[in-house]
Amino acid sequence: MPQPYNLEGQAAVITGSTSGIGQHLAEALAKQGVNVILNGFGDAAQIEADRARIAAETGVKVLYHGADMTRPEEIADLVETARREFGRLDILVNNAGIQHVAPVDEFPPEKWDAIIAINLTSVFHATRAALPLMKAAGRGRVVNIASAHGLVASPFKSAYVAAKHGVVGFSKSAALEVAKQGITVNAICPGYVKTALVEAQIADQAKARGIAEDRVVEDVILAVQPSKSFITYDQLSGLLLYLVSDMGGGTTGAAYTVDGGWTAA
Ligand code: NAD
Repeated sequence: MPQPYNLEGQAAVITGSTSGIGQHLAEALAKQGVNVILNGFGDAAQIEADRARIAAETGVKVLYHGADMTRPEEIADLVETARREFGRLDILVNNAGIQHVAPVDEFPPEKWDAIIAINLTSVFHATRAALPLMKAAGRGRVVNIASAHGLVASPFKSAYVAAKHGVVGFSKSAALEVAKQGITVNAICPGYVKTALVEAQIADQAKARGIAEDRVVEDVILAVQPSKSFITYDQLSGLLLYLVSDMGGGTTGAAYTVDGGWTAA
């Protein structure tokens, strides 16, 4: 049986992969034989347990790097670690992200700055560090986890919507620059996935709108998702694996929705 993705022995960095979508995407790559570097915050013992479990279950090398996505020099060191430890970087998944929900006139400026730094500017810093390695290899894949909010807006999410629209625009511009060098840059735009980030939003939205949490799920969150169900991790990793494989080689500068029909409405 041919392996459809043919990724064995490649190396990947996945930012924000200590929980939620990033952790699942890192595991999906590891299951295909890709050596991975995990990144993100959290309880050190839990991170080490997850790292060891993924390594044991998949047989690939799994490293952890604690780079803070607000610190350009730490982001550069994250990419440099792939070069030093694996001698290559085939796949960069820019996934780290945070959210804050508040009306514009009450939006704390420090939250704005943090969202722009982590959700948008870190994508530039990581891609900037990764492209020379990919150019030297004549091949590379950058996949940026944007959001349906990279294409359409919702109220009370000004910083997040601005950052995610920025990620889609950055992906297009970078894609054009490296289109002839075997490197693709794409954005994935998920609808709602029930991760810690969304669980926190349910509570925040309830406060901002003055309604109960179960009503937020029905009337606010899944109201915009015509499928009326949360997006699953496997639905996202399926697209990621396509994009990073040779089959995805003709796709660049694209923003792919996995949103249950949200942005079609
Ligand atoms: P999550 O909170 O479960 O995971 C976020 C990850 O980013 C964690 O590993 C966290 O430690 C890391 N992180 C946060 N700040 C960081 C920093 N300064 N430096 C390094 N790492 C940092 O969230 P998630 O829902 O899995 O979201 C992952 C990505 O998917 C985000 O970019 C988010 O915007 C996007 N997204 C999520 C949804 C959804 O419904 N959950 C929908 C669309 C897009």
